[in-house]
Amino acid sequence: MKRLLFPLMLSACSMVFAQRDFSKVEITSEKLTDNIYVLFGAGGNIGLLIGEDAAYLIDDQFSPLTSKIVDHVKTLTDKPINFVLNTHHHGDHTGGNENLANNGATIIAHENVRELLEADEKTSEAAYPVITFNDKMTLYLGDDKRLLAMHVNPAHTKGDTYYYLPEANVIHMGDNFFAGRYPYIDISSGGDIDGLISNVTMALGMLDENTIIIPGHGSISNITDLEDYKNVLVELRKRVKKAREAGNSLEETQQMNLSKEWDATHGTGFINAERIIEFIYKSAD
Ligand SMILES: [Zn+2]
Repeated sequence: MKRLLFPLMLSACSMVFAQRDFSKVEITSEKLTDNIYVLFGAGGNIGLLIGEDAAYLIDDQFSPLTSKIVDHVKTLTDKPINFVLNTHHHGDHTGGNENLANNGATIIAHENVRELLEADEKTSEAAYPVITFNDKMTLYLGDDKRLLAMHVNPAHTKGDTYYYLPEANVIHMGDNFFAGRYPYIDISSGGDIDGLISNVTMALGMLDENTIIIPGHGSISNITDLEDYKNVLVELRKRVKKAREAGNSLEETQQMNLSKEWDATHGTGFINAERIIEFIYKSAD
């Protein structure tokens, strides 16, 4: 019941990105703690951590934005960007890898991120992580501060990683969390609704009401926002699975209005009602 036509859709998206005019994009930032910021521009949210000797980026958006991102970071710190960590392989999160590696940064990610980048003809070797891990890893930022990389179940893709700063109580969840929106589940890259729900459940158990959550897309969030997001996914999965098990085809299930109470808030962006129902229909066990 898994995998179908996603490569087609992905390449259509890449064409949209390629034609997009990045000259109009402005990079902005929000200060989360003394030494942690989030940067917004176009593409996935970027975490910026300022350690004792170096700056660390979690994700780096699209390649044409690198110089703007670097200029913005310079307004916040004089520490060099020595490390870039990726939450997963998608181009709106890793597009700057090559430029930043050429500027001297070390790219770090889960081994599946490297595998998926290698499989993508549009990326070159300079963009690949040069350090990979297979489960978890700790980076010591200095000043008794740590950054924990945690590979989670395949959910958005099979390379999904959470980056958690326990002392600061901040987490970057990558595209496991589309704040207030339906998520994209990239089934052709190993994505799975069941993995997504179990990862979010795990995160809710690990985090508390003071945790600052950086979603892959959308505004800075807290545990209540994450709970709301999980509740939508759990309920929608239940409805879609029930419809599927009653013998409805995908098309029939898409016509049943199963997500109607959330479509106006969650379904107006990149992923509409039809697509979230398709992802769940194809990947729910
Ligand atoms: Zn993504």
